[in-house]
Amino acid sequence: MLKNVPVRSMHHDGLTIEGYSRAAVQTYWRIAELKLGFDLGAHPWDFMGTPFWLLTHCHLDHIAALPLYVARRRLMKMEPPTIIVPKYAVNAVRNMLDSFTPLDRGRFPCDLVGMEGGERFDLTREIVVQAFDVDHRIPSLGYIVNDRRRKLKLEYAELNGDEIRDLRGQGIDVTNEVLVPLVGYTGDTSPKGLDRNPEFYDAKVLIAEMTFLAHDHQRQYIHKNGHMHLEDFVERQDEFRNEVIIASHFSTRYSRAEAERLVQKRLPDMLGSRLVLWL
Ligand SMILES: [Zn+2]
Repeated sequence: MLKNVPVRSMHHDGLTIEGYSRAAVQTYWRIAELKLGFDLGAHPWDFMGTPFWLLTHCHLDHIAALPLYVARRRLMKMEPPTIIVPKYAVNAVRNMLDSFTPLDRGRFPCDLVGMEGGERFDLTREIVVQAFDVDHRIPSLGYIVNDRRRKLKLEYAELNGDEIRDLRGQGIDVTNEVLVPLVGYTGDTSPKGLDRNPEFYDAKVLIAEMTFLAHDHQRQYIHKNGHMHLEDFVERQDEFRNEVIIASHFSTRYSRAEAERLVQKRLPDMLGSRLVLWL
């Protein structure tokens, strides 16, 4: 693997979560099995094969590598990628990409899809993305990525295989769509992003931001800037139904050792050993 930028990784239940996130530095994540990534603050060379990206907002530490990524795919003769961005930003992002053409002498082919909170977008037959309004200094989206499954309708639960086949033969849809939330990604947000969208607590894997940890950082000020503090997690510790909670986007003022010490002091059982500090 070519290590042009830092990448950490972990596995959970068939998903490989890779990425790196530090406030104001750079944020990027990928789940290779789902063929998608979140945010493009930088672009690890071997993330190039991933064709779908979900961008939460346009602060540079989350979007700076978008032109690089699109250009690399073109250079390597790969299919144009699909990039989801908040709807209000579609035109500005397109203009940003096009503005490189006279400089780079290349085009930036990609499918830009605008989403608003409350909308869903079917990336593939199996993968369904839902967007949620979160609360940051600029309008931002969080995302939940679902596995779409079909489940037999309750009214047909008693039927045997032949009877179900007969109904299918008559063109009757015997199943309901069921969305299984695999990964939730809050992006940058104050705790309102969680409070307004409790769906995040049900994702199998939750990737959230925990920018500030120390007591001397005023929470009021942190929330106004659209970020979360360790104490916000302490207050909501009974809400998390996730199998894994990844806390990330720590301020650069904390070393790994200091972050671990501060979190373990306030959450000694690490949310039932489900909490992972991404440092
Ligand atoms: Zn931001």
